[in-house]
Formats: sequence, C-alpha cells, structure tokens
Amino acid sequence: MQPQNSLLSATGTTIFTVMSALALEHGAINLGQGFPDYDGPEDVIEAAAAALRDGRNQYPPLTGVPELRQAVAAHNRRFYGIEADPASEVVVTSGATEAITACLMAVLNPGDECVLIEPLYDTYLPVVKLLGAVPKLVRLSPPDWALPRAELAAAFGPKTKAILLNTPMNPTGKVFTNAELAFLAELIRRHDCFAICDEVYEHLTFDGWKHIPLMTLPGMRERCMRIGSAGKTFSLTGWKVGYITCDRSLAGNVAKAHQNLTFTTAPNLQRGVAVGLMKEDAYFAGLSAQLQAKRDRLARGLAEIGFGVLPTQGSYFITTDVRPLGFNGDDVAFCRTITEEAKVTAIPVTAFYASAEAPSHYARFAFCKGEAVLDEALGRLRAWAAGRGRQLTAAAG
Ligand code: PMP
Ligand code: GLN
Repeated sequence: MQPQNSLLSATGTTIFTVMSALALEHGAINLGQGFPDYDGPEDVIEAAAAALRDGRNQYPPLTGVPELRQAVAAHNRRFYGIEADPASEVVVTSGATEAITACLMAVLNPGDECVLIEPLYDTYLPVVKLLGAVPKLVRLSPPDWALPRAELAAAFGPKTKAILLNTPMNPTGKVFTNAELAFLAELIRRHDCFAICDEVYEHLTFDGWKHIPLMTLPGMRERCMRIGSAGKTFSLTGWKVGYITCDRSLAGNVAKAHQNLTFTTAPNLQRGVAVGLMKEDAYFAGLSAQLQAKRDRLARGLAEIGFGVLPTQGSYFITTDVRPLGFNGDDVAFCRTITEEAKVTAIPVTAFYASAEAPSHYARFAFCKGEAVLDEALGRLRAWAAGRGRQLTAAAG
C-alpha cells in the first residue's frame, strides 16, 4: 500500500492522551492533562440543557448562533475595551483547537514562515507543517521565560506571514507583559504580518497579573485573531466551544476555514456559553481567586517535597524542576515513574519542544483539582520521595 500522510504518520499520539491512559492504567491521580475535576457554573449548564429542549437542534449559522456572537463581542468590550461587530467579526468554533487551525489556515500559504514560541502547545507545529508553512522557532528559557528579543527579531524576515502567541502560556504559566507585547507588536507591524493569539487562559491569572490581548496594542486590531475557549473560562473542557474575534477583513477567510473543518458547533452548547460570557464580573474574579488558592496549595506542597517550583502567573499549570529530588533520568522517565510508583501523573515538558535538545528535567502539574485531591497527590508524592531517599541512603551506605 502507498504511504499515508507523512507528517501525520510521523506525529505521535498527543502526550495528554498518553499520560491520561497511563494514569488510568495505574490508578494514578491525574495531574497531567489539564481539566478540572469539578463542574462548570450551574446556570451555564442549565442553559445548555434547556436549549436542547426548545427545538433549535438543526445546523446553527456557520459563524455561530447570534446570541453567542453578541456575548463574545460584549465580553471583548467589557474586559478589554475591544469593539467588535458580532455579525462580521466573531467566529465560533468547536474549541480553541479548531480556532487555532482555522486562523492558521486563513492566512498561511505553503512556503510562508510562521514564528512559534517554545515551549509550545502540541497542536501548533503539526498544523503549521501540514499547511506547508515553515515554522521559525524561538525559545523561552526557564526559570523566568523572558522574551529573547534579539532572537525573536531575527526570526522575522521577508517571508514571515504570522506569529502564533500563547498568553497566558501553557505550560510555563507566563503572562506576557505590556513591554513584551509592545516589542512583538513592533515586529508584526514592521514585517506586515498577522498574529494568531491563543488566549484560552485569559481569565486564569494570579497575584494581580492581568491578561493583555495583543489586539489592544496600537496597530494590532486589524492584524490579530484573538482566540478564547469556553472550556477554560467555564471549567467545561469537554464542551469544546471556542471563539475568534478578528477584523472583518480576516473573518471571511477564518469562516471559510471553519466551514471546511467542522462548519458549525453544537447549538445548545453555544447558547450555554452565551449565558456564561454574560455572567457578572464576580464570576470571573472568583474563578481566578479559586485557582490561585489551588496553585498555592500545590506549589507549597511540591516545594516542601523538594521539587524546584517555578513561578506561575496564569493557566492551570505549575512547572517543576525535578533535579533537586535526585532522580536519575529524564522528564519522560520521571513522569512515568511517579505514575507507576507514586500513583500521581504529570506531563513531561519536553513534549512542548520541537527538537531533541530541549531541557529535560521539568514536569508540569495541573492544579485545577479539588483540595482533597491535591492533598492526596501531595501525600503520595511525599511518601514516594521519602522512600526513594531511604533507598538512596541505603545504597550509599
Ligand atoms: N491552547 C492551549 C494553550 C491550551 O492549553 C488548550 C488546552 N486545552 C487549547 C488551546 C485547546 O482548547 P480547547 O479545549 O478549547 O480546544
Ligand atoms: N490543554 C490541555 C493541557 O495542556 C490538554 C488538551 C488536550 O488533551 N487536547 O493539558
């Protein structure tokens, strides 16, 4: 038989699925794949349930039901002062994952260069390559993940068509500063390109850090495609409802990409999300406050066990340096070992790098879990680390 698509054949199953399956196999607490173990807001779920019963169950409009497009526009105005026309500048998709692909499809031609920032979410690179575009990777370095300005500037050139920016960032928990965004905006203007802005963690920021959409910077309104996700904003990751806000000059192609990917998204879920985006300010503030408390609980416990805990300003995730534990192996071995022995699962951070020369001593833990679950996971890791300590001492003696 003829070979199938070579890029997909060379791509492994996503690390999130691999580690979740391993967690299940070993009865481990899954702090790997980022999903809450609690449900989203009752009124949002009720609205979606009620919407199943009122007879609007056929294909919704291509760009989304009107009430959700209006809610996306209102949410943009309320939180960021972004004015967007709900009829011509909003496209609803089946999750941010589809939105990312649709935005890349909207602007990239084969041979165009697309700047990507490592560590990067696992769908970015395969999709850029499947479109025949050329990824230009720029790497942020731990522990502070600061923007390497000279390298970033060098990654832009005459063939650059777009940059894909993720802030707040998975897995680093970094929230890009105004100064960093201004530097990026200047490059985007100078090179006359577009930005795909993956902002799924926009409401999950801590310690007074505020998410700033790149779209709000001077000259960026027409160049940015801003992506949100109901999965993250309403703790309903299984719903897979995403939304794109962009200038009408871009929205046409974005909608055509969406029409060729899924065409539309379940109407009842869209109507539930519309109710969610209109919720009072206190809901959004409460979401980040609750997550901040979970972050603090997990960060404190991991540090006590001996992990090197990197700061997290936003997202669901804490990145940890596993070297202080004296583990003899890389991050993949570490995450496998704690799943099998401690019965706690994390994600190896090398999965977020394109090349083999990635730092290989970081593990990512998700803290979007109930307090009892976080405490149980910490107890298991503590006992495991203590047991290993005893083994090491015995071996040395
Ligand atoms: N982008 C990032 C950075 C993510 O972490 C995720 C995680 N789910 C997504 C996109 C995908 O979002 P969705 O579930 O809405 O497709
Ligand atoms: N975004 C989630 C994470 O980073 C995973 C989503 C998925 O499994 N596709 O954990």
